[in-house]
Amino acid sequence: MAEQWECVIVGAGPAGLSAALYMARFRRRVLVVHDGRSRALRIPVTRNVPGFPDGVEGPGLVDRMRRHAVEYGAGMREAEVVQARRGDEGFVLTLADTREQLHAASLILATGLYLQQPPLEEGVHEAALRAGVLRYCPICDGHEQIDRCIGVIGADGHGAREALFLRRFSADITLVPLHNSEVTAKDRTRLQQAGIRVVDRPVAHHAPGEDGYRVQLDGDDQPLRFDVVYPALGVRQRTELAVMLGLELGGDGTTAADSPLGTPVPGLYCAGDIAEGLDQISVAMGHGALAATRAHNWLRSREAPGE
Ligand SMILES: Cc1cc2nc3c(=O)[nH]c(=O)nc-3n(C[C@H](O)[C@H](O)[C@H](O)COP(=O)(O)OP(=O)(O)OC[C@H]3O[C@@H](n4cnc5c(N)ncnc54)[C@H](O)[C@@H]3O)c2cc1C
Repeated sequence: MAEQWECVIVGAGPAGLSAALYMARFRRRVLVVHDGRSRALRIPVTRNVPGFPDGVEGPGLVDRMRRHAVEYGAGMREAEVVQARRGDEGFVLTLADTREQLHAASLILATGLYLQQPPLEEGVHEAALRAGVLRYCPICDGHEQIDRCIGVIGADGHGAREALFLRRFSADITLVPLHNSEVTAKDRTRLQQAGIRVVDRPVAHHAPGEDGYRVQLDGDDQPLRFDVVYPALGVRQRTELAVMLGLELGGDGTTAADSPLGTPVPGLYCAGDIAEGLDQISVAMGHGALAATRAHNWLRSREAPGE
């Protein structure tokens, strides 16, 4: 007999766990399914989550949120969801390995995204994150880089925008291409006006360490050393399940911007990084609250008064 839930939430990051807390407190039978890959688990310390003036470690924050939702009755299950479809009675999700099926009247996708990373072996990459020499989110932690020597990797329009954004925090910024420089003449002029160095030779070797991040440029003997490097290589939202359910993606790869408020598929909501390009914990939490409240009210609209 397949399990039947009033709401299944795919994802146990800030969006999914906020939605789970709200749903559980609305006294819904709610299950969170996740494959253990919340990006928040990779944050050494975040300092821009409201309410944590001393900062908070990503894994610690996720653990508090998980315990909070479980405290009110949310179920948790670690498994990858590999298929999703909408049947007559609601949503049917298939789990990897066991091929077990879950049935849900409503569904919240809070599946996050994949980062495009520089070519580093996984262990080296994660150590560089922990050391704080490799960072991905100028909005989150630009404030920690005031007057530091910053490298931005990825010399296209995205890289140029990120370098210009960081200029508010430091005058010592260099834009370096991962492969070929694709900086337009217009961007190059703006970068030069802002005092940002633009390197045209690609990186031949990356060497992050405890004391900074070195990049060896193609043809150079001496590496460039930065206090911190921000890759600006783009992201890929985890929208596979959303696409299976018929959602159309926006030009930025996210599900439609109004998706926490509802999608064209009845009973389906999206929240967090999958739904909005700002990619912030506080945004994901807000989305989770919205998505859960909308899903709860949608369920109520199908129930007899008093149920
Ligand atoms: C190094 C780093 C530092 C950051 N620093 C900050 C910061 O300081 N401040 C800030 O606001 N933000 C920061 N962020 C961004 C922040 O982590 C994200 O915005 C936030 O985690 C988004 O929450 P989410 O719930 O949408 O997605 P996520 O937290 O990524 O969670 C996605 C969830 O979906 C699950 N999932 C996806 N697909 C499936 C599937 N098919 N089956 C089962 N489970 C699935 C994953 O396992 C995961 O549980 C940082 C990110 C990184 C990587």
